[in-house]
Amino acid sequence: MFDTLQDRLASVFKGLRSKGRLTEADVDSSMREIRIALLEADVNLGVVKEFIAAVKERLVGLEISKALNPTQQIVKIVNEELIAILGGETRRIRFAKQPPTVIMLAGLQGAGKTTLAGKLGRWLRSQNYSPLLVAADLQRPNAVNQLQIVGERAGVHVFAPEPGNGVGDPIQVARDSITHARNKLYDVVIVDTAGRLGIDEELMRQAADIKAAVNPHETLFIVDAMIGQDAVNTAKAFDEGVGVDGVVLTKLDGDARGGAALSIARVLGKPIMFASNGEKLEDFDLFHPDRMASRILGMGDVLTLIEQAEKTFDAEQSREAAEKLLGGKNKFGLNDFLGQMRQLRKMGPLSKIIGMLPGAGQFKDAINEIDEREIDRIEAIICSMTPKERDDVSILNGSRRARIAKGAGVEVSAVNNLVNRFVDARKMMESMAGGGMPGMPGMPGM
Ligand code: GDP
Repeated sequence: MFDTLQDRLASVFKGLRSKGRLTEADVDSSMREIRIALLEADVNLGVVKEFIAAVKERLVGLEISKALNPTQQIVKIVNEELIAILGGETRRIRFAKQPPTVIMLAGLQGAGKTTLAGKLGRWLRSQNYSPLLVAADLQRPNAVNQLQIVGERAGVHVFAPEPGNGVGDPIQVARDSITHARNKLYDVVIVDTAGRLGIDEELMRQAADIKAAVNPHETLFIVDAMIGQDAVNTAKAFDEGVGVDGVVLTKLDGDARGGAALSIARVLGKPIMFASNGEKLEDFDLFHPDRMASRILGMGDVLTLIEQAEKTFDAEQSREAAEKLLGGKNKFGLNDFLGQMRQLRKMGPLSKIIGMLPGAGQFKDAINEIDEREIDRIEAIICSMTPKERDDVSILNGSRRARIAKGAGVEVSAVNNLVNRFVDARKMMESMAGGGMPGMPGMPGM
């Protein structure tokens, strides 16, 4: 989403770095470039002005730091001000002292509300809450059904009006759901409300009525980041009409210019609480202003990467694999490699993972060329081997290789290639013993 902005900022900083000393004119011209970059990324004009003014003010009073050169200091200030624009601290859900905590979701049709209900439910469940999704969108004929499907995928129960009871009253359904949650000991209730194609009186009134009926602890406005400045305007209208506590940005994986994401917290004066960046239920996380800022500045998002790794990597399996690599009793085999590769893939598409590394922006084209199918092929080849072959590739003679190639649907040369690369990589890892990242043997071509 922030590709162009990242590129532009990177070139501003690169230009500065190439100069030994910064004159006032250098600083002025880079501020101008940053301003244009932000405007071109569709950031709200008021926000841009405020941002540039804040950065300039700090630059004037800048004390020469011994640790940082002038360019680094500018990057640091821009980073800090960007974090401030994005809302400062990460804002977490305020849970009720007396459960259930009620979270109401509102937004336009197609914003991604229903999907988000599932994502939020799944996320809460992973933290040992027992959430209940409530279908209070009775406008669209298919909405209840859609929420039920999402709930099933997320492993979260859905409270919905009995089928055949006519259109039903969403306010009554919402009210009943709270009683139901109390009786059945659900501790978080997520109320999905009806959306419209545009903000209108009727939508506002219904949302306000549901809000009055369930008295939510958090009212979240879900907004599609791809719709640009309209996102900011709808959020504002909605906040004035109904009142919101926080915003959820969806479709951050899209290729829109990202200005909405950068403007909304400041214009609204409300925090962005969650970010949704894909159609899958796991494409979802708390919104961290600091991490987003470092991503935009091309400083990478290593914290998110580490967190994802912690979540998905099986520590025991990785430890075993590392031990083998470091010359333990058993040799690191293709089976260990397969296990590690699968864990890595659980973190998401490789291009997404690598994209979080600092400086990844420079290798964007290469990253986009990572062919996941090639990795599928590697997996297929290893899966066509017997356990014994995976443990000890030295037994792979011609006929075994031919059999494996046939099983995996590839040419024998692909099997040879994989085996050779694996043996080389293992040799390299062994010779480095102790260095490198456990569990991530540097397979060329990966
Ligand atoms: P609702 O009308 O607000 O309930 O919106 P839906 O949850 O039905 O979502 C509308 C469409 O957007 C669906 O096709 C979703 O799969 C898609 N969608 C939702 N969130 C995201 C996201 O973060 N990224 C992408 N790429 N698509 C999303």
